[in-house]
Amino acid sequence: MQIKAVKFGGTSLATAEQFKKVYDIIKSDESRRYVVASAPGKRYETDTKITDMLYACYDMAVAGLDITYFFSAIKMRFDSIIEGLGIDLDLSDEYAKIRDAMQRLAGRDYAASRGEYLNSIILANYLGYDFIDAADVIFFAPDGSFDAERTNITMSSEFKMHERAVIPGFYGSMPNDTISTFSRGGSDITGAIVARAASADLYENWTDVSGVLMADPRIVKNPLEINTVTYRELRELSYMGASVLHEDSIFPVKQAGIPINIRNINRPEDKGTMIVPDTVKYDKAHVITGIAGKKNFSVVRIEKDKMASQRGMLHSVVEIMDYNGIHIEHIPSGIDSMTLVVNSSELKGRRQKIIESIKRATDPDNVVVEDSLALIAVVGRGMVRVKGVAARVFRAVADAGINVRMIDQGSCELNIIIGVDADDFEAALSAIYSEFVK
Ligand code: ASP
Repeated sequence: MQIKAVKFGGTSLATAEQFKKVYDIIKSDESRRYVVASAPGKRYETDTKITDMLYACYDMAVAGLDITYFFSAIKMRFDSIIEGLGIDLDLSDEYAKIRDAMQRLAGRDYAASRGEYLNSIILANYLGYDFIDAADVIFFAPDGSFDAERTNITMSSEFKMHERAVIPGFYGSMPNDTISTFSRGGSDITGAIVARAASADLYENWTDVSGVLMADPRIVKNPLEINTVTYRELRELSYMGASVLHEDSIFPVKQAGIPINIRNINRPEDKGTMIVPDTVKYDKAHVITGIAGKKNFSVVRIEKDKMASQRGMLHSVVEIMDYNGIHIEHIPSGIDSMTLVVNSSELKGRRQKIIESIKRATDPDNVVVEDSLALIAVVGRGMVRVKGVAARVFRAVADAGINVRMIDQGSCELNIIIGVDADDFEAALSAIYSEFVK
């Protein structure tokens, strides 16, 4: 029998009604054996996620305030799910323990993790699956980094004793037995870790959209869903602002070569997006896989006659940036000039100091910093095989009357990155999308 690891996000487990959809999905395929649950998310736009309520409650405890009222609101959210499902489950002892631990200031991560913990107990009970506490099978190293190997060994041997189980997302334990969490949205990572430990054939990530979209729907109206995307393409798209999965959730499954399928709990009939280790096949109709972008970049341009023949210049400039904690995004260069593209926020407060250091180290003819650059990444594994993709990107932007301020394309031809003025960002992205999706 196939094994699927399935993860359900916060909105998919926010109410009893949502739990029922999740139940039907899990029960409709017996290979869905290992389930990762998030904490209850928002029930409506202005609602507050349980995780945020837990953080707030803990902060109140730290400030020495009475948490009684606030804690009851959290309890009520869980109790209304239990009641709505009609299951025979009483969490009073758990609530008392958690409240007590919060008052003893057992840790902010501990507090935040209780949303996943309680929701998973409810889901396990409702499904008739075993409950495995993530604290017993997910481990962090003393420096706080995730201990992948220890986790994998412990979790996979634990799974041998459980045919079907629910595992809370988002947290694990430190060597001193305290609780630590991944960064926000970290249940996606737990899902990937569980998929690897279960040697799953597939990691299904259930959410409230039918997959990864080709472009940001706030910019492009009704963008198409991507059928298949490779891990590397998704990394590029996520890095450039497309938000789908937690970006660290790729690594555990990539290591094991397990594909991820993004699915929509409100439209379970949709195939969703498959994220696969690698494939040479690509969407012939559109050639590109997706477009993503971000604003708020700055360029540091250094000009100097005969720069090309001067040794060590790039090295000195990179060292200056490194010393100032600035991450360089791109380095498009000319014969007598070099441009560094950096995040504008990282330059804040250090701009003058950096210009001075570059002047001292390289004796340039000129150093200028220009702001309000937006970067757009056109990503597609098919580009390497198809002629004219770059020409189409630039024609689309030119036809929209937009000036391209920077171009960068890696030799692996997985993406083309263009820089435009921040004011032109949305128009450029839409123009490129329309060029490829007719
Ligand atoms: N509940 C956590 C958060 O809100 C983790 C997750 O949902 O993935 O970030």
